Amino acid sequence: MAEENTVLEQVFEAQGAAGAARRRDFGLAARRAALGRLAQAVQRAESAICDALAADLGRAPAESLLVEVTPLLQDLAEARRHLPRWMRPRRVRGGLAGLGTVARLVPEPRGRALIIAPWNYPVSLALGPLVSALAAGCSAIIKPSELAPATSALIARLVADCFPPDLVAVVEGDMDVATRLLALPFDHIFFTGSPAVGRVVMAAAARHLTSVTLELGGKSPCIIGPGADLARAARWVAFGKFANAGQTCIAPDHLFVHDSIAAPFKAALLAEIARIYPAGRDLAAIVSDRHATRLRDMLAEALNRGARLLTGGPGQGRQMPPSVLEALAPDTPLACEEIFGPILPILPFSDIETVISRINAGDKPLALYIFDHDRAMIDRVIAGTSSGAVGVNLTMIHFSHPGLPFGGVGVSGQGQAHGRWGFLAFSHEKPVLENRFSPAPLLFPPYGARSRRMIGWVKRLTAWSLPRR
Ligand code: NAD
Repeated sequence: MAEENTVLEQVFEAQGAAGAARRRDFGLAARRAALGRLAQAVQRAESAICDALAADLGRAPAESLLVEVTPLLQDLAEARRHLPRWMRPRRVRGGLAGLGTVARLVPEPRGRALIIAPWNYPVSLALGPLVSALAAGCSAIIKPSELAPATSALIARLVADCFPPDLVAVVEGDMDVATRLLALPFDHIFFTGSPAVGRVVMAAAARHLTSVTLELGGKSPCIIGPGADLARAARWVAFGKFANAGQTCIAPDHLFVHDSIAAPFKAALLAEIARIYPAGRDLAAIVSDRHATRLRDMLAEALNRGARLLTGGPGQGRQMPPSVLEALAPDTPLACEEIFGPILPILPFSDIETVISRINAGDKPLALYIFDHDRAMIDRVIAGTSSGAVGVNLTMIHFSHPGLPFGGVGVSGQGQAHGRWGFLAFSHEKPVLENRFSPAPLLFPPYGARSRRMIGWVKRLTAWSLPRR
C-alpha cells in the first residue's frame, strides 16, 4: 500500500515538474504526433481490445468494434484533423466597449488532468477523454474501472507503450485508489460514472477548487407516440436497450407507449428481440455476479408486485436474456433507479402532457428519445423537457455524431465531451485584450467636466442600443 502510494504520487509529481516543461513544448505538431501514436496503437491492438472486452463483458467482437473501437478512432481522426482550428486563437468583436482594442480567446491547457472511467465502455470512456486531454495539451492520469480488469490491464500496457509517464500514465485500482487520486490537486477532473460517485468526485474537487467534467447517468425515457413507425421504432429500441446487455448510459431505460398502438408495438418489439438475438447469441454478459443479483432482485420485486413479463426472465450466472415487462408498480426499484441492464418496462400513456410532467418530476435525463412523425408533438416534447440530448426516431447514435457535443444536464452531468467540446473541457479559453488606441483613459478620474461629459455620452450610446420601453 505504502509502495503503491509512492508510485501514485511519483507519477503525479512527474506530471507536475517535468510535465510542466513537456506541456510548454506540447504544440500542434507534438499533439498531433501523440494522437497519431494513440490511433496506431488502438488499431494495432484492435483484436486484443475485443478479447479483453469479451473477457470482461462477454461482448461480441463485432459489437465492440461498432460501439467502442470505431467511435474512438473517429474521435482521434476528428481531433487530428481539426486541431489546428481548435488551437488557433479566436478573434472576438467588442462593440463600443472594445473600441480601440483587439480581443482574442487563447485556449491554454488546464494542466494536469485526472480521468476516471467506468466499466461499461471501458476503452472508449478511458481513451476518449484522453484524446481531448492530449488535443488540449494536458497531461493525464487515467484510472480505469476495476470491474473491467482485462481491459484495465490492456489500457495500462497500451498507454505505457505510447507515452512517457510524465505525459500520460495509467493508475489501476478500485475506489481506494480513486480516493487517493482525488486527494491530489489536479487542474481538471474528467469523471464518467454514476451520479452517486459524481457527488463524491465533485466534493473532492471542491477541496482544491479543481474544475470538473461529470459524465453521469440516470433514467433515459423513450416515448413511442401514436404516429410512430412501429417496426422502425422496435428496431432502434431493441438495439439501444439490449446492446451491451443494457449497460449503456444512454440506453432507453423505460418506454412510454401510446395506448392506441400498444398492442402492435409490443408484438413488433418482441419479434425484433427474437430476430436480433436468436437463442441469446451476441448478447453481452452482466459485468459481475453482484450486478446480476441486483438486476434479478429488481426484476423479482417488480413481478411480485404485479408486473407482467412479456419476454425474458432472470437468466443464469452473468447471462440475462432481454426482458420486457408491463404493469410496473410505480414505487419499485425498477421504476425508480437507473436500470442499467437488459430489463425494459413499458408504461402506457394516452396524453403526452402526462408523460412530459412525469419526466419533469424526475432528475434531468442524459438522453430522451421520441418516436413519432407528428412534428408538433416532437417539438412539444423537446421544448417541454430538459435532458442531456434528444434522439428523434433513433436511439444511441447521437453519441458518435462528430458535430454534436455529448453530456448531461443537472443530475445526468455537467460539461461536455467529444470533438471541440472535449478540447474545451480540458482548456482554459483565456481572453486576451490588447490596446491599440483605446479612448478609455478619457473616462478615468479625476471626474472633471470633460470626463463627466464623456461618461454621459457613453451612457447615452449604451441606452440607445437598449429597447425603448
Ligand atoms: P461508478 O460511479 O460506480 O464508477 C466509476 C468510476 O469511479 C470507477 O473507476 C470506480 O473505480 C470509481 N469509483 C467508484 N466509487 C468511487 C468512490 N467512492 N470514490 C472515487 N471513485 C470511485 O460507475 P460505474 O458502475 O462504473 O458505471 C455506471 C454508471 O456510469 C451509470 O450510472 C452510467 O449511467 C454512468 N455512465 C455515464 C456515462 C456518460 O458518458 N454520461 C457513460 C458510461 C456510464
